[in-house]
Amino acid sequence: MADFPTRTAGAPLAGGLTLETGVPGLVAYGSTFESLIDGLRHSIGRLAADDAPTRFGVPPVISRALLERLGYVETFPQLLGVVHTYEGDDRQWRELVPALRRGESWTHRHEVSDVVLLPAACYHLYPHLAETEFAEPAVFDLTGHCYRHERTAEVGRMRSFRMRELVRIDAPASVLDWRDGWIERAAGWLGSLGLPVTIEPASDPFFGSAGRLMSTMQRSEQLKWEVAVEVADGLDQAVVSCNCHKNHFSAEFGFRLGGGEAHTSCVAFGLERIALAILHRHGPDPRSWPAELRPDPGPTREEPIPDANVSRT
Ligand code: AMP
Ligand code: ZN
Repeated sequence: MADFPTRTAGAPLAGGLTLETGVPGLVAYGSTFESLIDGLRHSIGRLAADDAPTRFGVPPVISRALLERLGYVETFPQLLGVVHTYEGDDRQWRELVPALRRGESWTHRHEVSDVVLLPAACYHLYPHLAETEFAEPAVFDLTGHCYRHERTAEVGRMRSFRMRELVRIDAPASVLDWRDGWIERAAGWLGSLGLPVTIEPASDPFFGSAGRLMSTMQRSEQLKWEVAVEVADGLDQAVVSCNCHKNHFSAEFGFRLGGGEAHTSCVAFGLERIALAILHRHGPDPRSWPAELRPDPGPTREEPIPDANVSRT
């Protein structure tokens, strides 16, 4: 049997921070942590208000064919989580049950399905822009539960985490200016939350020896910048990534701006990592967090919630 974590009997989930699941890189969260995530969501929303982004909701899985088409399978095979489903019949399943009970393999009748786990929120957006002629630049705002098959389980390096992304479609020069503006804006915002930052050019973990070349090119063209903060003692991690994709997505899906070429950039916030950095810096008591992030206290006992069924004059 798998070792599931056992909670101390009667220990409340309310007020909890992070909760181990027994699976490396997989963490659940108690109510205090979730209220901090809510505070971050609102704060990022205010920070992005000038961009007037269009919100876009996405599922935590994505078309396998889409990621194949976009080159993700070639470049990050090590990170991709693939959904398999049972394709046997009832009789074959009954053969498998004894194997399952004996702790033996039960997956040989499973096949790769048409979906994979979402590795970054913005992949969902681009197919919806196909063949669009944008009259003016546009910004989209998406949050996805993402999966990456991380091999190390240090604090802040999860396999499942929430990524908030702003994606801009703009002319080549202006989309870079927007991206650069966000490096400063994100760094200033984190600083205002009491988190000292470092800003560095970065690269994605492209796989293998061909991947090393791609990383080098990405760095030399400064296509990716990361804003990092301390999330635990002596451990700095990127909490915001600011990327320029040039025409990677616009060429593939044929979307354009003002009759000319469109490029895209995205700014990605790792919500759990930012929350961990806030807790590391300010502690678990919401009263010591920056006011910007504190949970709405809601109505107090002295101010009862009005009963909707009682009509008042
Ligand atoms: P990336 O696409 O790798 O630039 O990731 C975008 C953002 O997601 C990063 O800046 C991090 O804040 C966050 N992130 C990436 N990988 C992880 C992970 N394994 N665990 C938690 N957050 C992550
Ligand atoms: Zn993105």
